[in-house]
Amino acid sequence: MSAADHRASDVPGRVVSDEIVPERGDWSGVIAANHVLRIVDLEGRQAVDFLCYSAADPSERYNAADTMKFAKTIFLTTGHGLYSGVGRRLFTIVADTCGRHDTIGGCCSSESNRFRYGVDGIANCRDNFLKALARFGLGRKDIVANVNWFMNVPVEADGSMAIVDGWSKPGDYVDLRAEVDVLVAISNCPQIYNPCNGGRPTPIRLVTYEPAGGTGASFAETTTSD
Ligand SMILES: [Zn+2]
Repeated sequence: MSAADHRASDVPGRVVSDEIVPERGDWSGVIAANHVLRIVDLEGRQAVDFLCYSAADPSERYNAADTMKFAKTIFLTTGHGLYSGVGRRLFTIVADTCGRHDTIGGCCSSESNRFRYGVDGIANCRDNFLKALARFGLGRKDIVANVNWFMNVPVEADGSMAIVDGWSKPGDYVDLRAEVDVLVAISNCPQIYNPCNGGRPTPIRLVTYEPAGGTGASFAETTTSD
């Protein structure tokens, strides 16, 4: 499947918006409750750094630790929720054709690029997040640990972890159903010094749709004593 083969009409519902985010680009917007944001990795192996907030009160935002605890795994996929710090689902993952995403690697920054790779002044996800968040009056203090769609950070039995080649093929996507009105900030990762983008940053597609036949399947984490 080539990039051009993914059509917005492929989504199971009424298309609300359909945009391409160019390689190294950023994006922000509000996904209305019950609408679904589809993130398409058009050419494969493209990390999509992702933050989300309650649109009504952005001080309520994605909480990585709680999301992992509730999912009981660091590898999020269909059925898992993205939770805020007050235990509210902001998004539910309702489809995932890739099956490997990252919750622990965080976003690249100019400082981490200098520390890890000895390079200065190159495009990075934190600067992209700052641009995307500024459109909604948010800033550096609003950047928290983020999700990286299509990025692969396995953890070995001895606890070691590393960014390695992603699993996504051209056209792979995740569908995220908003459970409330959710503000989203995205950095289409510009990194070229590790394998997260297959060595070459590429465009992504963002399709927002209203699901046909209502809000679709419900998913919930089971509650246990842990
Ligand atoms: Zn990055």
